[in-house]
Amino acid sequence: MGNLTFTMIKPDATAKGYTGAILDCMIKGGFTIKAMKWTRLTQEQAGDFYAVHKQRPFYDELVKFMSSGPIIAGILEKENAVADFRNLIGATDPAKAAEGTIRKQFASSIGENAVHGSDSDENAVIETDFFFSKLERF
Ligand code: ATP
Ligand code: MG
Repeated sequence: MGNLTFTMIKPDATAKGYTGAILDCMIKGGFTIKAMKWTRLTQEQAGDFYAVHKQRPFYDELVKFMSSGPIIAGILEKENAVADFRNLIGATDPAKAAEGTIRKQFASSIGENAVHGSDSDENAVIETDFFFSKLERF
């Protein structure tokens, strides 16, 4: 089990000014920031990032949403990072997310759900490499 995961604060949350509060949740949740950047995905980049969902009915909506405004991408460190971070962010659908989770507090719908968290150590590596060079990780 790895100690790194990858996150994004999604365009809904950056637009609503939740960035600081969400970063605070991550830090209070015991995660250390190893890399972080404010950026914006093109539709093509968002499509590549979520390519695994290409056959799903929500794919086009997801690509449009994820390229609709700025995001924050980050690498977070903690023991058991992937699973612990999924617990901190809560269920994909905020209506089903546990009390106190980031999505419960800041997400508005299953599509516009405030944050991304890697779902495996393997994907955490793929996703960090998508956004960060070795020179950008501390
Ligand atoms: P993420 O990968 O962003 O951390 P997740 O792992 O909880 O979220 P996935 O199943 O990987 O959920 O779905 C990726 C993203 O696609 C979701 O976070 C959400 O933004 C969007 N999505 C998932 N299911 C739906 C749906 N039924 N309708 C609309 N959008 C959806
Ligand atoms: Mg996922």
